[in-house]
Amino acid sequence: MKNIKNFIDGKLVDPISKQYIENIEPATGKVYGNLPDSKKEDVGVAVDAAKAAFSVWSKWPVQKRSDVLMKWADLIDANKAEFIEAESRDNGKPMKLAAHVDIPRASANLRFFATAIIHYASESHKMDDVAINYTLRAPIGVAACISPWNLPLYLFTWKIAPALAAGNTVVAKPSELTPMTAFLLSKLANEAGLPSGTFNIVHGYGHHVGQAMTEHPDVGVVSFTGGTETGKKIASTIAPMFKKYSLELGGKNPNIIFSDADLEDAVKTSVHSSFANQGQICLCGSRIFVQSEVYDQFVEQFVSRVRRLQIGDPEDDATQVGALVSKAHLEKVEGYIQLAKEEGGTILFGGQRPIVAGRCADGYFLTPTVIVDLDPYCRTNTEEIFGPVVTITPFETEEEVLAYANGTPYGLSATVWTDNLKRGHRVAEFLKMGIVWLNCWLVRDLRTPFGGMKQSGVGREGGLEALRFFTEPKNVCVKY
Ligand code: NAD
Repeated sequence: MKNIKNFIDGKLVDPISKQYIENIEPATGKVYGNLPDSKKEDVGVAVDAAKAAFSVWSKWPVQKRSDVLMKWADLIDANKAEFIEAESRDNGKPMKLAAHVDIPRASANLRFFATAIIHYASESHKMDDVAINYTLRAPIGVAACISPWNLPLYLFTWKIAPALAAGNTVVAKPSELTPMTAFLLSKLANEAGLPSGTFNIVHGYGHHVGQAMTEHPDVGVVSFTGGTETGKKIASTIAPMFKKYSLELGGKNPNIIFSDADLEDAVKTSVHSSFANQGQICLCGSRIFVQSEVYDQFVEQFVSRVRRLQIGDPEDDATQVGALVSKAHLEKVEGYIQLAKEEGGTILFGGQRPIVAGRCADGYFLTPTVIVDLDPYCRTNTEEIFGPVVTITPFETEEEVLAYANGTPYGLSATVWTDNLKRGHRVAEFLKMGIVWLNCWLVRDLRTPFGGMKQSGVGREGGLEALRFFTEPKNVCVKY
């Protein structure tokens, strides 16, 4: 059994209540450890520790803070085999994916913000011969960082790295479904040189721990990534308290293929953008729109590739599709496949639980699912499913597909495939999404603004946006 503890004031501790939650391995459906079922009291102790540490950490020279974050990144790399195994086991994702994406990106996030803070500068504004204004950017205080289960350490470090680099102290909460790699990271915090109380983790359920973090009066800034419904709850708690917040929420991303696109590239990348991490990436393209001239060709080639995807034990090197994160999530996704049938959809491929032999016989697996014949505005095509399910819909004109693409409450990301440069730029401009990829998917430069419009969120992460978010600007005006 692998037992997880909270990390508060530089120490690994049990929850005050001594109550625990079972941690289940999605690929086997079996309990393999437990995590603290922390409550408001644990959050209170962690926030007190972070508040006390703020006067130390925020005054450290920037270079010294940077060195500590760099060392933490090195420690992740030095222990990468343990992190990779843990991420895959906790989440159900193929180990190969954790090895190529999740864990390298976690140390990259720390290094990115450790170096970005050294080059971070604030603005000045000269008013002819009247005065000069300069902007001070100070850390805010205690930052609450709340992350989801789909890219556990990747998204956890994406928040804590800029928060800490900017001089804030942190109380963080990973998802209760995937707490293991955040726990492993906390075990390395002292060795990296973080002063006690600078970084704390309180494990547990969102409605206990997350809620207590957001409503605590000594938490000055909240960074959240997760579902839109949770985001609404958090905003309703925080807004009347006038805290700063950033919400990275759900999506229903369109993937638009024009007839002049490089079809082979579009098909190959679309399979990846539909089913990577079992379709559980907020940026996955779940609605594919194909111009009618190439619709039949696209569908045939797409299904033929999907058919060849290897589903199986995440530990197996050949596995491309692992398990969904939980039984409840598997059932939710299956509910949407049933809904798609009721809405008149045809399942071209998948939609069943595959037989996975051996230790994974009771795991939460689902065959990648391809659905056609649906109305572009039906529930299946407008609600977030967040699993290995895509729909394919034909279109005739650019105007028509833009209406479909923008026709959901979400606005996170879009992918557009065309060899027509002018059209690519035009469509990118009219898509109401925070991120648009032209002829590629998930190519990420960490300096760019990251986040969504409409119900996909409030605020942006990444690069300078994150450092601005985790600091409070103050204008000083000096008369000549
Ligand atoms: P979730 O909203 O259920 O949980 C996210 C986190 O919030 C967890 O740590 C959870 O414990 C916590 N939480 C739950 N209730 C809370 C409350 N009342 N107060 C404070 N915290 C609370 O989301 P999830 O199921 O873990 O993740 C999947 C969702 O995340 C999907 O909608 C996906 O699109 C979204 N997501 C968005 C992005 C993005 O960058 N926009 C990235 C990844 C995932």
